[in-house]
Amino acid sequence: MTTYWAAHAWLPDGLAENVRMTVSDGRISAVTVGPPEPDDHRLPGVVLPGFANTHSHAFHRALRGRTHDGGGTFWAWRERMYALAATLTPDTYLDLARATYAEMVLAGVTAVGEFHYLHHGPDGTPYDDPNVMAEALRTAARDAGLRITLLDTAYLTGGIDAPLEGAQRRFGDHDADAWAHRVAAIRPDDTLTVGAAIHSVRAVPLDAIPVITAHATGRPLHVHLSEQRLENEQSLATFGVTPTRLLEDAGALGPDTTAIHAVHLTPEDVAILGSTRTGVCLCPSTEQDLGDGIAPGGLLHAAGARLSVGSDQHVRTDLLAEARSVELHERLASEERGSFAPAELMELLTSGGHASLGDPTGGRLVEGAPADLVAVRTDTPRTAGADPAQLVLVAGSADVDTVVIGGVVRVEGGRHVLGDVGAMLGSAVRAAWEEAR
Ligand SMILES: [Zn+2]
Repeated sequence: MTTYWAAHAWLPDGLAENVRMTVSDGRISAVTVGPPEPDDHRLPGVVLPGFANTHSHAFHRALRGRTHDGGGTFWAWRERMYALAATLTPDTYLDLARATYAEMVLAGVTAVGEFHYLHHGPDGTPYDDPNVMAEALRTAARDAGLRITLLDTAYLTGGIDAPLEGAQRRFGDHDADAWAHRVAAIRPDDTLTVGAAIHSVRAVPLDAIPVITAHATGRPLHVHLSEQRLENEQSLATFGVTPTRLLEDAGALGPDTTAIHAVHLTPEDVAILGSTRTGVCLCPSTEQDLGDGIAPGGLLHAAGARLSVGSDQHVRTDLLAEARSVELHERLASEERGSFAPAELMELLTSGGHASLGDPTGGRLVEGAPADLVAVRTDTPRTAGADPAQLVLVAGSADVDTVVIGGVVRVEGGRHVLGDVGAMLGSAVRAAWEEAR
């Protein structure tokens, strides 16, 4: 049993002073207010609940800073991503994911939703263990100390009514039943939750959606939704409805479902996502980087959708920055400030994301919750002088000092227990691209 003490901690009612949090068996067993006692482990700055990174493709980290020559659209970027996906092996995938997850932990992330579709060998033939790539993710998350929700992704077509081609063949199972059969062999454990994903209405035929949804019953189900206008145009041309309406009619929306991006929505789409209490994960740095557009976060929030954030392709691994970007995008779009109060940004960064990942108890500093604590310094050049209650609007991953996940200290003094994460990332990214040449 360990008791942590913080001068400031973010409790469900907001910021509190002189907070003692006792941890046993990986969970918070008591939260009290009072001065530190001699044996308490004192944490610096403000202690926040662990952050959820609700949407990740770990291997995309190798694309950071390598796609800015030549311009183009999302679809041109996707060709670069496919070139990388074509050559990764279980070993290079593991090294890349371990380093990527360690970087997340440095940024205060305590649970990740991995939208996993790189399943099979280079020509689409399954490996001897058809889940060897999922097992690499399990190992990577365990090594980094991170809780993972494996959102194993059905990716069955190369586009609406189009076959898988090139690197896409690595993503595909023969059909929804084959996908379900493979995923059923992945065992959950203490730190891995098995969820499911529909890649998008582009990559899953209409008649397969209910099969996947049925298989995911009671577990998190995620889906890319309307990131690009072209997806909407193709859906309207083929099915006569928007992707949101299509998913709703197929029975795929609801509180256990999270739509990723949700950028190009009609007012009816917003109403559907809100009334079904579907989660919506915004990925602002990706949406900026790929020129996707600005999601209607304020409207979705007002309609009743449960918001969260993800670093997606990891052009930036800074979940505090992702959270505040939700408000900053609203400011750019509306020319007003304050669609989201700091407490609402904290909610989408923490409890909103953990709920989307299948843990309704996560992301809160309360008795019974996982002992996930993130201490953010308030004396750095970025944070000094700021009101601690507004930290989410100013702090970044470089200000994270200590990260405790499930009662285990993984980061202390801004260093991950695995060592030099920059060196790990450098060698993992170089190895991934060497294979690509
Ligand atoms: Zn994605």
